[in-house]
Amino acid sequence: MPYKIFGCKVNKFYINQRLQHYKEQNNGLDTTLLIATCVVTDRAKSKRIKDAKKTLEQGQRVAITGCGTLEKGELISAERFFSIYPELRKFNKNIDLLPESPTKLWKGWTFTPLYTKNFVVIQNGCDNHCSFCLTVLKRGKHRSRSSEEIIEEIQFIESRGGKEVVLTGVNLAARGANNSRKTEESRFSQLLEEILQQTTIPRVRISSIGTEFVNDHFFELASDERILPHFHYSIQSFSDKVLQNMKRGYGAEKLKDTLRKTRRIQKKNPESISIGADIIVGFPGETEADFLETFECVQEFGITKLHAFPFSAHQRGEGVPASLYPNQISIEIKKDRNKRLIERGERIRDAFIQRNKGITHKVLIEEQKAEKRKGRTENYIQVELEGNYKKGEIIEYLL
Ligand code: SF4
Repeated sequence: MPYKIFGCKVNKFYINQRLQHYKEQNNGLDTTLLIATCVVTDRAKSKRIKDAKKTLEQGQRVAITGCGTLEKGELISAERFFSIYPELRKFNKNIDLLPESPTKLWKGWTFTPLYTKNFVVIQNGCDNHCSFCLTVLKRGKHRSRSSEEIIEEIQFIESRGGKEVVLTGVNLAARGANNSRKTEESRFSQLLEEILQQTTIPRVRISSIGTEFVNDHFFELASDERILPHFHYSIQSFSDKVLQNMKRGYGAEKLKDTLRKTRRIQKKNPESISIGADIIVGFPGETEADFLETFECVQEFGITKLHAFPFSAHQRGEGVPASLYPNQISIEIKKDRNKRLIERGERIRDAFIQRNKGITHKVLIEEQKAEKRKGRTENYIQVELEGNYKKGEIIEYLL
């Protein structure tokens, strides 16, 4: 079954499930193009819809899933979906709108994962209301998976030769809290401890987390060599004014304190610690001075993996609170700030890779084409190499 995935690791997790499901069920949808949509920006929305339209114009069927087909965590109505994507309405007979998850999780499936690294969703939805976020309106209320289920899934992955799991979710570090705004209720670090104690998986990678959830227990556990030294934070801005307007619920000092503590995590090779960040530029009301606060902090804290994108006012069929804010920033200024930030991020990344040269790293082989192999070091540096290594193998590699 052909598929196209856009968006985050949560989408990849559910598409992996859905493809397993189809393989198991073989329910005749094989020729249908399966598309996982993302709504993080208007641009993201349009991208996959264009793919769908092209396929539909050739008379083929398309199954659409992901955030684009969700509303408050439930399957969106066809009428609502076509009001957001009117250009697809005339093809409605050839479109299947699919809910997020096909059926009960992986139990008993033959399970040939799509990826060498295994995405494990530990949490979904969110109760926060960041003023730029559409995801929260799509994926519904915050909910956590039980530790038992997560541990069982990781042990299952291990039993199938899996070497790395990537813990993911929508606001994943809120896992275990009754409400994602109650940061003190988070049981994220407790889950990390359970994974370290109850499984022997060699590599645990953590995807983007909110700094408001990381505590001393987390930093203690993070020194374990099985917790990979790449810590990615959902930061969005280093300007107090912008963070307040985003309704992030924390200030720049909390961010900086978390990054300082991350740099002090006890690892065999402290130089290997990589820090990643999600940043939005051009949020309504952001002045050049506000932007420069972020620009300077990215340098000061050595952000080695930057996901930066311009604020999206979401004009396509469904908006976010900040869409209505005064002082919207022009496209030109947004693009300029984003370009400057990404260029700075690339320079920091090049310097980080240079500092890791001459050091032996553990690389998980993720792809193999003929003689070529691709993989990632423990601190998220992509490498290409030659050799007869197998996908899923961890090798010692001198960078
Ligand atoms: S924490 Fe904010 S940005 Fe993240 S999913 Fe929740 S509302 Fe969206």
